[in-house]
Amino acid sequence: MLKYRAGLKNLPTYDVGEADWKIKLNANEFNMNLPAVVEDRVMGRLSRLAFNRYPGIEVESLKEQLAAAYNVQMDNILIANGSSEILEKVFFCLGGRNRKIVYPQPSFSMYKIYADLSGSISVPFDLNDDYTLDAEKFVDTVNINKAHLAVICAPNNPTGTAVPLRDIEYIAQNINCAFIVDEAYVEFADESAMQILSKYPHMIVARTFSKAYGLAAARVGYAIADSKVTTMLGKVFMPYHVNSLSAAVADIVYQMRHEYESRISMIKAERQRVNDELVKIAGVKVYPSKTNFILIKYDRAQQLNEYLYNIGIGVRSFGNAPRLDNCIRITIGLREENDAWIKAVRDFIVNN
Ligand code: PMP
Repeated sequence: MLKYRAGLKNLPTYDVGEADWKIKLNANEFNMNLPAVVEDRVMGRLSRLAFNRYPGIEVESLKEQLAAAYNVQMDNILIANGSSEILEKVFFCLGGRNRKIVYPQPSFSMYKIYADLSGSISVPFDLNDDYTLDAEKFVDTVNINKAHLAVICAPNNPTGTAVPLRDIEYIAQNINCAFIVDEAYVEFADESAMQILSKYPHMIVARTFSKAYGLAAARVGYAIADSKVTTMLGKVFMPYHVNSLSAAVADIVYQMRHEYESRISMIKAERQRVNDELVKIAGVKVYPSKTNFILIKYDRAQQLNEYLYNIGIGVRSFGNAPRLDNCIRITIGLREENDAWIKAVRDFIVNN
């Protein structure tokens, strides 16, 4: 019998239940590949890549661009394998035995897993019934528990709910521990914690190329924080942890980010259209979203999910997950895809 580390046996596996759907709307991906002009540049760059060398220049170049765009220094930035790696390392560096980590519930399911993995004590903080975050209560929970790390997801996955910047700033002002703001979906929202980051040296902003930049395959994310924080976090990454191919692609995508503006606007417009269609369907509760997905609640969610699955539409159902019972999260896809799934939801409800 192998003796695994304590807690591993009971740790859930991150499983989003992938299948070969005609319309894939389960993972908040972008449903279009690289814009053609970006693809040309990417292929050209990859054809000149030094495959025999460890990564270096590609990561530095991406860092340089991000530093210029956010008006920070390069040592304020950490590049990683998706924002997942940032989160994992932040939990590892600031959590640990007997240390508490406060994170919202319901929110990104990995927070609990990273807290468990780092041997920390999880303190889930209940969002309001409409999934908004009560900043005052959040601050109290962090302070009463003497937490070492506070986490928020802004806007929140899987509910789509915005966290107003004034609330983020209120939290930053009133807690002393490390405070990470997960901005995986921020490009679809109106405000960002980046606007106030320079005032708060205990704050870390995590971002990703996986969502708005449609680069989930490359696994590139980054954190921006005070250089004392990035220095400490930087110690726990593997050598050369971000590969040259991914960094080179992200570097080009970021250089050409204006190519993505119309796509992001399209998703936001579709989100509004989808919302307006869904609210007309009796029995479906729709939560306002500032992301590239939308959460609905319907009392036969399980059956609806099965119906969608069987006709080739993949969405994310939460079964009986705490505070997400009968909820389904659907990524905003292309116009035809959205038409198809809304029609399917309507058909299901009319016929059942
Ligand atoms: N944070 C949130 C809230 C997410 O939803 C996700 C992806 N599902 C991530 C972080 C991680 O994304 P990635 O590792 O692709 O950057």
